Amino acid sequence: MSATLTNKIEIIKATSSKINEVDFENLSFGAVFTDHLFECDYKNGEWQNPVIKPYKPFLLDPSAKVFHYGQAIFEGMKAYKDDQNAIWLFRPDENYKRFNNSAVRMAMPEVPEVIFMDGLNQLLDLDQAWVKPGAGNSMYIRPFMIATGDGVIANPSDDYKFMIILSPAKSYYSGEVKVLIAEHFSRAANGGIGAAKAAGNYAAQFYPTTLANKQGYQQVIWTDDATHTKLEEAGTMNVFFRINDTLLTAPVSERILDGITRKSLIEMAKKEGITVDVRPVLVSELVEAAQNGSLKEIFGAGTAAVVNPIIGFSYKEVYHELPKIENSFALQLKEKLTNIQHKLSEDTFGWTV
Ligand code: PMP
Repeated sequence: MSATLTNKIEIIKATSSKINEVDFENLSFGAVFTDHLFECDYKNGEWQNPVIKPYKPFLLDPSAKVFHYGQAIFEGMKAYKDDQNAIWLFRPDENYKRFNNSAVRMAMPEVPEVIFMDGLNQLLDLDQAWVKPGAGNSMYIRPFMIATGDGVIANPSDDYKFMIILSPAKSYYSGEVKVLIAEHFSRAANGGIGAAKAAGNYAAQFYPTTLANKQGYQQVIWTDDATHTKLEEAGTMNVFFRINDTLLTAPVSERILDGITRKSLIEMAKKEGITVDVRPVLVSELVEAAQNGSLKEIFGAGTAAVVNPIIGFSYKEVYHELPKIENSFALQLKEKLTNIQHKLSEDTFGWTV
């Protein structure tokens, strides 16, 4: 794909904007989309026809492989507007790399960087009025790719569609989060697709999460599939534990998504002088720490919520509630990271683009 693709993205503008119908103060996460989307098709072994066009439904053959075999991947990233009306992305190169890693694992074609980045930048430029400045406001960006080739035969599709859609977001508060530690279900296994942002990973979580919801827990903490003794992820986030003043989180693996928030928090925490121990964290350690009072915090980390404090966990039918804490690492790190993202403080890491 040539580097001059920028000039080649066709732009078909919407004849009218929906922006005045949107209540930006009361947005449900992921429910409202901007006026336009970016689309590029993969056919005959080539990416072709990059276009920005009005956001609307599209047709697919009922036999399209995405419906039958789940050949589908996505990314989740955010853009922020500063008080000079400039739009900033947070570590977009990391999302781009992870997207193509997911593509490889799902036997899908990689998307050239110029398509991903120019498509995204031009789309954000066109829909820039939808990106609101101010703390708490962001634009959630959803790049995704689906197998569009026809035929109910279980092999990789020849054709694909890559799209980017944009959804304005307010800061995400999920209320008090209690979690259930998985004793039977798993989200991922060695040799599987847990490290990819493959659509099916999320569908597979719905049933065990619904069971947990019925018991009064908002999320599941996933444990390793082989022994269910290691703590891996919380819902669709990476997970951190603070025991005394040390932050613990599992190393990324074939079962754990290499979260961009996770790796940013690790770097920030170290810079703040917090001891971070990246190693397998055992369920037994957590229970013991909860019992002896050394467990101070648990929090999820991911793009949508940034940091999501967890107030208690249940394991083998015993619920352990965490004590209230002052000087929370979770809140401290969240503030520092969101200040960088919103350009309210200097980005000494060079993460904003
Ligand atoms: N784990 C899973 C399974 C996820 O879906 C996500 C959200 N994309 C994360 C972790 C967090 O990743 P990130 O910080 O890059 O959003």
